[in-house]
Amino acid sequence: MFTTVSEDQEYAIGAKAVQSAIKEEGLYKEDEALYDYYKVLGMKLEAVTERQEKPLEFLMLDSPTYNAWATPGYVNIYRGILPYFNSEAELVAVMAHEAGHINARHTARQITKGTLAQILVTGAAIYAGSQTDSSEVANLAGVVAGVGATLAMQGYSRSYEREADDLALRYMGKMGYDAREAHNVFRGMAAYHSYYEQKYALFNDGKIPPKSPFYHLLLSHPEPKDRMAQVAETVGLPDGSVRLPTGVQPATPQNDPQGRTRYLKQIDGISVGPKPDNGVATRTHFYHEKHRFKWQLPKGTALDWTGQNWEGVNIHDKTKIKIGFATAEKDDPDFDPEEALRQLFPRATDVEKASVGGRTAYTAVAGSGQERTRIVVLHSGKTAQDKTKGRHFIVLTFEATAEKDADIRTSLNHFTYLTLTQAEKIQPLRLRAVTVKKGDTLDSLANRMATNVVPKQWFMAINGVDENTPLISGMQVKLVVNENTL
Ligand SMILES: [Zn+2]
Repeated sequence: MFTTVSEDQEYAIGAKAVQSAIKEEGLYKEDEALYDYYKVLGMKLEAVTERQEKPLEFLMLDSPTYNAWATPGYVNIYRGILPYFNSEAELVAVMAHEAGHINARHTARQITKGTLAQILVTGAAIYAGSQTDSSEVANLAGVVAGVGATLAMQGYSRSYEREADDLALRYMGKMGYDAREAHNVFRGMAAYHSYYEQKYALFNDGKIPPKSPFYHLLLSHPEPKDRMAQVAETVGLPDGSVRLPTGVQPATPQNDPQGRTRYLKQIDGISVGPKPDNGVATRTHFYHEKHRFKWQLPKGTALDWTGQNWEGVNIHDKTKIKIGFATAEKDDPDFDPEEALRQLFPRATDVEKASVGGRTAYTAVAGSGQERTRIVVLHSGKTAQDKTKGRHFIVLTFEATAEKDADIRTSLNHFTYLTLTQAEKIQPLRLRAVTVKKGDTLDSLANRMATNVVPKQWFMAINGVDENTPLISGMQVKLVVNENTL
């Protein structure tokens, strides 16, 4: 294999990219037993790979995103992908695919081919001379880190993806797993894709998303369906056939070669969705740790974390709702919600004083007709010394006609500020393995999901089931639940 990049250079790039990812997301260490389990699987995987001289590290990042990626020396899984696996073998399939990229030196080979040159303009120039000066390594690594770990990984070509898939099947076989479980991973990706589409449509008036949910992680990863067909061929599944997920046959610890029960036991209780300091939305409530409040939402509110704000829609009356946060630049105790409102919405009219959660708030209207928005600006629970006045604000907007004002007012009667101690107890949504009982249906189980955001599609996506999958009593399924009792 010819590359102009030395192994040391390659690993320096990997280490740098991983450092920036850890800085951004943090490691997911809430459940130490899970982390240990993952690392042990990593060690077993490493033992069957070809490149023994360089150790692999296995990281689990505290991000709700559906993602996994590799950079030289590191296999990185986000906690956000774990709910979508239905056996240990599926998790291993993804780890093995990423290890395949590393072992086949895809990063080094792409730098050599110049495929990464557009991203790593200066880096490519440095490497044209094929030097091994360590300051240049640092330089290139700096470029990679600057561009972002994910971007650096986006250049993998389809042939490299196929190579990584083939290596993954080989490693899985050596580890004693049924390689067909890899096929289920692609089914899972396809199911996630369709869940994402329906979620997008809910928040965007029925529109189709312009980008695949995988664009941010796997720009060049071929569509799951293509890879599914490829893997099906390799493992000898008839083309187009659908293999039911392992869970359809209730597994027992004694008869569970793909590790379904083990896996479900390990991921039972993991965090799902954003961290509580960004807020937690359930079917009925919204909790915010940093801004210290809870709010009993208007019935039917479906909220989605965009990474910046919370955006939502009422599934019954289609009112659009946003929860945002604002901070005054100066720590001025006289800066109150009225000033915040006037600065944020200079053209708002009908500014009125109100009381929300026992504190002064201000409300106003912007736009008219279909564009009419009811604005409410209130104090954050996070104020200088928890005084009535402070510099942090919560901004609620409702795109609704005047007839909805009464409902909005009623819902704000169910807004409560929390003490620091209460706020620190807010739990994220959690994944729980539950046993299917006689009489349970897809709908009855989906109704137990702690969300109004396409709960049935989400249930189907995390469990790898569809309308035709038999739900046999005694088998285990996963639910996303709210365990807050505040
Ligand atoms: Zn890949």
